Amino acid sequence: RIKAEEESGYLFYSPEMNQRAKEKWQLEGELRHALVAQQLVLHYQPKVSLRTGEIVGAEALIRWRHPTNGMVSPAKFIPVAEETGLILDIGSWVLDEACRQMRAWMDAGLAMPIIAVNLSARQFDRLLPNRLRTVLERYQLPPECLQLEITESLLVRGAEGVISIMNELVAMGLALSMDDFGTGYSSLSYLKKFPISTLKIDRAFVIGVPTDENDCAIAQAIITLAKQLRQEIVAEGVETREQMAFLRQLGCDQLQGFLFSPPVAVSDFESMVLSGLRLTLEP
Ligand code: C2E
Ligand code: MG
Ligand code: MG
Ligand code: MG
Repeated sequence: RIKAEEESGYLFYSPEMNQRAKEKWQLEGELRHALVAQQLVLHYQPKVSLRTGEIVGAEALIRWRHPTNGMVSPAKFIPVAEETGLILDIGSWVLDEACRQMRAWMDAGLAMPIIAVNLSARQFDRLLPNRLRTVLERYQLPPECLQLEITESLLVRGAEGVISIMNELVAMGLALSMDDFGTGYSSLSYLKKFPISTLKIDRAFVIGVPTDENDCAIAQAIITLAKQLRQEIVAEGVETREQMAFLRQLGCDQLQGFLFSPPVAVSDFESMVLSGLRLTLEP
């Protein structure tokens, strides 16, 4: 095979690059198969109110139940899916699956909180509003049950097109949430241009709270900004009670993180909601 490539004169990669390209190509094939073989699953991570301690939402996070490698993290395959464009099919599957699950909860008479789904920037095109309309209609769901998490890279691309798609989504009744806030390159002033209802402070800043002065200052600035823009603020990756207490005292609205729960399988999430599990806010 290599010989044939050499003879064809198309071998312009170094051997290592060639190896990486092959691995990527192989992963893409396996991932494409995973999609049809139903090896992809959604886990749910609760978001809790820092006012009441109750579960007020959850984020759907994809996992790959690989037949031989066990549960594969999205960090391992989402980047490849984005590079190859396969994220469009995966993204559609995620939306469909989250909506199918919400329909099942409703049919079972379970009152579930709002569910957030992560969107890749590549999914964010003119057809997105219609794709969302179709899936909501398929499962007969009100748009208010779904939130879309997007990242700052979308704002940087910042074309008018992006704003008008966002406006269309909001007009449909969907809520937009800015994920990983503070890690990208967007200017803070961009924020007021976009119809975003929630900011999620990235774990990178939560880690240093309350010991690292810089992280505390950044967390405080983000919370103040969000409040002024009348946006809800969620802290992600909260692992300790000290972090919780600090963020709560600054006026952060919600917390998501291992302190309360990691992302869990559907049945575990259902038990949590049904049992009325709450976060203890008092120190
Ligand atoms: P994200 O959307 O920022 O999700 C938060 C990540 O932080 C999740 O990792 C979650 O398990 C992890 N996390 C939550 N709380 C804690 C904590 O207290 N400590 C620590 N150390 N980690 C915490 P996960 O599930 O591995 O997902 C990684 C990223 O993959 C997500 O980051 C998101 O960008 C992407 N992703 C996941 N599912 C999807 C999807 O369906 N579509 C798209 N486009 N991207 C997805
Ligand atoms: Mg997210
Ligand atoms: Mg995030
Ligand atoms: Mg993050």
